Amino acid sequence: MQTFSKPFTLQEPIPEEAIKRAVEVMRSGRLHRYNTLGDELSETSLLESEFAEYLGAKYCLACASGGYALHIALLAAGLQKGERVLSNAFTLSPVPGAINNAGGIPILVGSDPDYKIDINDLRIKARDGSKFLLLSHMRGHIPDMDEILSICTEHNITLIEDCAHTLGARWKGKASGTFGQVACFSTQTYKHLNSGEGGLLVTDDPDIIARAVLHSGSYMFYEKHPNMPGNEVFERHRLDTPNYSGRMDNLRAAILRVQMRGLDENCRRWNVLYTTVEQGLRKIDGISLPERPQYEEFVGSSIQFTLLGGLAANVSNFLRACTKRGVEIKWFGSDEPIGFTSRHESWHYLEDQQSLEKTNMVLDGLCDLRLPLTFDQDDCNQIVAVIAEAIAEITASRP
Ligand SMILES: *Cc1c(COP(=O)(O)O)cnc(C)c1O
Repeated sequence: MQTFSKPFTLQEPIPEEAIKRAVEVMRSGRLHRYNTLGDELSETSLLESEFAEYLGAKYCLACASGGYALHIALLAAGLQKGERVLSNAFTLSPVPGAINNAGGIPILVGSDPDYKIDINDLRIKARDGSKFLLLSHMRGHIPDMDEILSICTEHNITLIEDCAHTLGARWKGKASGTFGQVACFSTQTYKHLNSGEGGLLVTDDPDIIARAVLHSGSYMFYEKHPNMPGNEVFERHRLDTPNYSGRMDNLRAAILRVQMRGLDENCRRWNVLYTTVEQGLRKIDGISLPERPQYEEFVGSSIQFTLLGGLAANVSNFLRACTKRGVEIKWFGSDEPIGFTSRHESWHYLEDQQSLEKTNMVLDGLCDLRLPLTFDQDDCNQIVAVIAEAIAEITASRP
């Protein structure tokens, strides 16, 4: 029997240089981002400058988590209580959670068979008067951004990108996270940078960044932020913007700054793993993988595939056959939320649940694998061998 023994949740260690910087920050005692002397820049401020530059954005705010960044991005972009926000039905639970937290009403847009937002469904739902689209590039799948931008322009919709899985990715040469008015990234352990928890918000809009900085809990220290709009912009907002305390601290920023330097190389390494698994899976009957256009320069930190035909009706057996061989596959078809994975029907707080039949058919066969950088190409081949054997086993046992 083919087996695999490495854990899918194992990340690489934090680089030694980052650990050294973290220790220095701890020795200084100055962990709070505003605990600086004179015009000294804190690690958090330096991270913001470097991240904005990396992405080609004007402004960046580091904060407590990706979900928190989405929450204040919606508010800073002007979301009012009770307003509708279009968003992907296929995403992770912090996305509708952020909309709810910001007082908005999530309107779920379906998924196409390639796991991207369904452009036709979006076009229909965009006519309902929603002024916001929180577009989640779930598992790194980037939709046709020309179409997205044209729909947003036509209906005067503010676009907020959730780039939790697209840090380092580009679409037609343009960095993911630079298409809308605001974009949010996560530096939670399972994403492309690892500070345990953390979020990064980027925008080119001076009013949005000013409000985001004030919401994040800048008190009246916003002048300590690098590359900010002029004081007159903060004057407009500072007494009307509640402090929702969710700053990043210097310890996390310090380890992120060092990791940033290895980001592009890590993206390349993820894509080697992805391509290895993809090529292996393409040889197996009964599985379909999305075709990804060349101009979708994604980061393959995870891989998704769909079980077809008779296999789709047999997912539980397939998952069991993989688990027993050491390959833990996440399945978006499960009725019960498990671990990080939940599907839209289990978000009961959403007002009127919409029928998303086509999306449900996509989710029912959707299998999802993490590809941590602790894996190598041999591991990838072994995972493919396990999946092939699991499929052979359940195919043989089918009546
Ligand atoms: C992880 C994640 C988030 C939220 O990030 P946190 O930092 O965990 O709050 C948002 N969207 C998607 C698609 C994610 O996977």
